[in-house]
Amino acid sequence: MSLPPRPDTGSPGPGACPVVRPADHTTPRRGPLRPGGPRSLATRLLSYRYEAADVALDNPDGEHPTVGYRDPSGIPHTLTCDYSAGCDGDRGVSRAAVPAGALTRYSHGYGYSWLSVLARVPAAPSGMAIHPRGLAGVIPRGAHASRLYLQCAADDTLEQWPDGRVWSELTARFGTPVSSGPIAEKRLVPLRSVVYEPMRHGRLYLLGDAAHIVPPMSAKGINLALHDAEVFARALVRQAHDGDGALLDAYSETCLRHVWNYQAFASWITEITHNAGDASHEAEFRKQIARAELRRVFDSPAANRLFGKLSAGVN
Ligand SMILES: Cc1cc2nc3c(=O)[nH]c(=O)nc-3n(C[C@H](O)[C@H](O)[C@H](O)COP(=O)(O)OP(=O)(O)OC[C@H]3O[C@@H](n4cnc5c(N)ncnc54)[C@H](O)[C@@H]3O)c2cc1C
Repeated sequence: MSLPPRPDTGSPGPGACPVVRPADHTTPRRGPLRPGGPRSLATRLLSYRYEAADVALDNPDGEHPTVGYRDPSGIPHTLTCDYSAGCDGDRGVSRAAVPAGALTRYSHGYGYSWLSVLARVPAAPSGMAIHPRGLAGVIPRGAHASRLYLQCAADDTLEQWPDGRVWSELTARFGTPVSSGPIAEKRLVPLRSVVYEPMRHGRLYLLGDAAHIVPPMSAKGINLALHDAEVFARALVRQAHDGDGALLDAYSETCLRHVWNYQAFASWITEITHNAGDASHEAEFRKQIARAELRRVFDSPAANRLFGKLSAGVN
């Protein structure tokens, strides 16, 4: 599929369509946390930051939740907290410490996966390509490595993707030779959206992937995690300095409004970029609609402006 390149993405190879770059992480831009903030709290937190094993949360909705862990020499410790921040990803212990039924889980499966590959070779060419065999991506990871993405069927296995097939498929989907090299890691990532509501339970606050997952095509996972962290940090500072818990009380609602806005963006960009190529997923009609939506992003200044704002995380 050949579309005009976005001004900042350079020229696509023949048959390739640069769309968005999942590597473009944009941190929400706002003023710094108030000077004179809780430096001593931050310093204390930093000293507990690394190498904790067997982390376990207890009493998350009590007056003083506890966090137990073992230090590198195996000695057990227990922290008694006023508040705890669960920022340990989708498979961490924080959300698991919330009693069943206290959170509502909203989820959507897209019906396809990404083969995600880390290769020790510079990304050349780099960008995203849309092809009848599915979406493909080659994204720089530093000067000497690249992340490679290939849309594949939800029931594909790694055995179906030997290294040679990865390179030949990328070359076919980009319509130009893709530089090959040693493959360091390969995994399958089913594309899905998940939100847990509310994003807190008592004095345990859930942040980032512990509270929500967006499909990787949107490149919004880190933005959302940083947004949650900023909202939580500001709320904690307000509580610690002014004894005002209003921002903490509003934490879940504040974050969820933002999260759902970007879940909507993530779902839209995922569907149009994946359907625009591979008609086997939702048939030719959806493919043509997806292509029309994608073209609008390139051709209509209004659509391009909105896309730019959502990509940058400022809408
Ligand atoms: C293939 C793929 C591509 C992606 N590409 C992008 C992209 O381009 N841009 C983007 O913004 N997002 C992307 N994401 C999403 C992004 O990686 C996540 O949304 C983001 O990392 C979430 O940050 P987090 O801090 O909430 O969780 P995580 O990054 O998962 O961090 C949680 C941390 O907690 C630690 N932890 C968990 N359990 C314990 C425990 N019991 N004890 C101690 N430590 C523990 C983990 O080791 C980990 O370090 C992608 C995701 C995938 C799968």
